[in-house]
Amino acid sequence: MSKRYVSAWSEDDALDGERVKAFVVILRTSGCSWYRSTGGCSMCGYNEESETTSGEDLIFQFTKALEGYDDERVIKVYTSGSFLDPAEVPLDARDRILSEARDRAERIVFESRPEYVKNIDGDATGLEVAIGLETADDDLRENCIGKGFSFEDFTHAASTARDRGATVRTYLLMKPPGLTERGALEDVRASIEATSSLSDVISINPMNIQRRTKVERLWQKGRYSPPWLWSLVEALGTEIDAKVVSHPSGGGKARGAHNCGECDDAVLGAIRRFSLDGQRHRLDISCGCIDLWKAQLDLEDRALAEGIDYRKDPRMGTIPLVR
Ligand code: SF4
Ligand SMILES: [Zn+2]
Repeated sequence: MSKRYVSAWSEDDALDGERVKAFVVILRTSGCSWYRSTGGCSMCGYNEESETTSGEDLIFQFTKALEGYDDERVIKVYTSGSFLDPAEVPLDARDRILSEARDRAERIVFESRPEYVKNIDGDATGLEVAIGLETADDDLRENCIGKGFSFEDFTHAASTARDRGATVRTYLLMKPPGLTERGALEDVRASIEATSSLSDVISINPMNIQRRTKVERLWQKGRYSPPWLWSLVEALGTEIDAKVVSHPSGGGKARGAHNCGECDDAVLGAIRRFSLDGQRHRLDISCGCIDLWKAQLDLEDRALAEGIDYRKDPRMGTIPLVR
């Protein structure tokens, strides 16, 4: 039983085009049901934080975390899985937490797999459901991530959420295992196009290699490398109606999206500013390593075309090409 929430903090965010503060709480729940029944998705290590937790404990954790609340206009309530899964957040705890949060903030954000979105009761105005679709490509989602739901499941869930008055935040994963750098970029671009009409916000999460995951095992064997920040910058520039943002976890580190090391802080700063105000000129940045990134895109294309099983990642040396 756990009465300790994982963490809570205040951060910059955007609300209907305005720059605001958001209060973020991560609750310690019993974890994602999908993880418990199948071993989870290839990149997910969130369940490291999980412990058996009752609804009463969750209300206690949330109330305790609120002691640090400072009139932020957005509250984000995250768990290690789905806030709308009654096996993870019992209904009475869910309702109480939502009601406390709605009394304080204008927008309440939480995450859920699509199958639980039908559990939203009543008027959901002011709620934002974040769904980890990861990619619009069903084959990739199934074979490289192991997510266990289809694009159609996502579209139903997003429509249900909107019908009830909620907004939808769609998470896309940049560079699931098995893709080249260009393949990852094209997948994110195609996924942005495919989800823009169903999303109020699209949040691109470049791969961050978490401990004790399938992706970590591939990375340790030299069969996977996280994306370049340049690929993320390129994807963020896609012109669509929905707002596209990114808050890269592990950005600039070996396990996260990174560039040459010299320009990483500047590029991450540009991505952060763009994600807050949507001003495209924020992304007008450069560094000599952009040529290495372009060379990798071309080299991998040529290697694939010629059936060569190696590529040269300018950041890492020679590593096997993952197809
Ligand atoms: S990525 Fe989401 S659905 Fe997949 S195991 Fe992790 S918490 Fe569960
Ligand atoms: Zn650089």
